[in-house]
Amino acid sequence: MIRKLLHRVFGRNPSVPVSTTRPSSSKLRIIPREQHGITHANISPCALKVTSGLQEAGYSAFVVGGAARDLLMGLEPKDFDVVTNATPEEVRAIFRRSRIIGRRFRLVHVMCGGETVEVSTFRGPSGDEAEGTNGGAAHADEHGRLLRDNIFGSQEEDAKRRDFTVNALFFDPVHEEIWDYLNGYQDIEARRLRIIGDPERRYREDPVRMLRVVRLAAKLDMQIDPNTAAPIGDLAPLLQNVPPSRLFDEMLKLLLSGHALPCVIDLRKRGLHHGLLPMLDVILEQPLGERFITLALKNTDDRVRQGKPVSPGFLFAALLWHEVLAAWNVRQGSGEKLIPALHQAMDDVLAVQNGKLAIPRRYDAIMKEIWAMQPRFTGRSGRRPFRLLEHPRFRAAYDFMLLRCESGEADMELARWWEAFQHAGPGEREAMLLKDETQKKRGRSRGRKKNEAGTIGNSAAENLE
Ligand code: ATP
Ligand code: MG
Repeated sequence: MIRKLLHRVFGRNPSVPVSTTRPSSSKLRIIPREQHGITHANISPCALKVTSGLQEAGYSAFVVGGAARDLLMGLEPKDFDVVTNATPEEVRAIFRRSRIIGRRFRLVHVMCGGETVEVSTFRGPSGDEAEGTNGGAAHADEHGRLLRDNIFGSQEEDAKRRDFTVNALFFDPVHEEIWDYLNGYQDIEARRLRIIGDPERRYREDPVRMLRVVRLAAKLDMQIDPNTAAPIGDLAPLLQNVPPSRLFDEMLKLLLSGHALPCVIDLRKRGLHHGLLPMLDVILEQPLGERFITLALKNTDDRVRQGKPVSPGFLFAALLWHEVLAAWNVRQGSGEKLIPALHQAMDDVLAVQNGKLAIPRRYDAIMKEIWAMQPRFTGRSGRRPFRLLEHPRFRAAYDFMLLRCESGEADMELARWWEAFQHAGPGEREAMLLKDETQKKRGRSRGRKKNEAGTIGNSAAENLE
């Protein structure tokens, strides 16, 4: 009974020692260093320590996935994942500073200095083909989406359960070899993004792979193989069955990839934006906001590529700004006061987003702060601009205001004034202040209010006259 259970979990007889000899798969191609040019020096110290430590203990160990791919493409890997035929317990026993994590599929985190390397055991087949071979432990929902994917297996099986051929390459840093079961090396050379196995079945198993196609094609500057692209339009609705938190994680990766603008354009072209995230529906179907969003995404992409930090809260604030503006206009139209109407509008928009779980609540505070500070940029008399400058979120709110000006929503004069004000000396600042406009404002007719909501920056420009 226990033996059967262990066999089911480990995908092999636990009493049989692991083999480190080369597998006899006819499909395996081993590419030597002279050909691929990657050396152990291209690997982080921790990944090298982990792979060589495992190999010294008699196991096989490789750097896999995004890191192997990025190295071959001359890109800098974000992190180094390691795969091995050692079980998590066996890995844990080799490295003193390590811990087993995860319940569904257990992984080991090995720590060296400040670096952590994730080590996983080769995973076996999932879906239909797993039935029978692994005691039928794989499960799918009625659309074919995999609910379980936690069976250990061979290296070749591990390659096949990955998403794209270019993501299924193994680099052995000790012997400096690339192991390739699925012609991923050729695909990298040809810059071709090709899904492993039957495309429709692979998207049904995990619809998030459709988003990964779009993100990776943009990031890697690859052509999507026609068979890989073909089923996407028809299967796009399957994304609605994916847990929102998973969609959110993948969307965040996409938005912060440094290629958000081309990705979003491509998502739209493939019909993947509908119902994907309520947020994206909003972004792309709103002509008024489109220019603003395009600028915001382009700005984010530039920052990411320059290695500057990007705040997801800022990005979401930008993505939803025109929704807030619309709700604000409606509330002012029905007679609510400017600032309370803005706060109500912010709450309305966030309630819808949180309800659909598109944007987690932890981003609410920063989004609200950025939005709520926008009307304050029009106050350029007395102590108000000095107070705004001291606000801990001034920089984010200022960058946001720049986007509003650049998109034509507010006057560029406002941006120029604040740029000058920030860099002016104390005396110059006093000289820049405008005459107190409160009196003028009080006397204004209510009829202007609606206009102010949509163009709060322009009301400031008028105050200059
Ligand atoms: P990035 O460099 O942007 O992180 P990545 O390919 O490393 O891209 P990860 O999400 O870090 O992406 O995934 C690591 C590896 O796990 C992938 O290279 C791929 O082999 C595998 N993988 C990730 N997501 C899936 C999926 N949905 N289906 C199958 N395999 C996947
Ligand atoms: Mg990765």
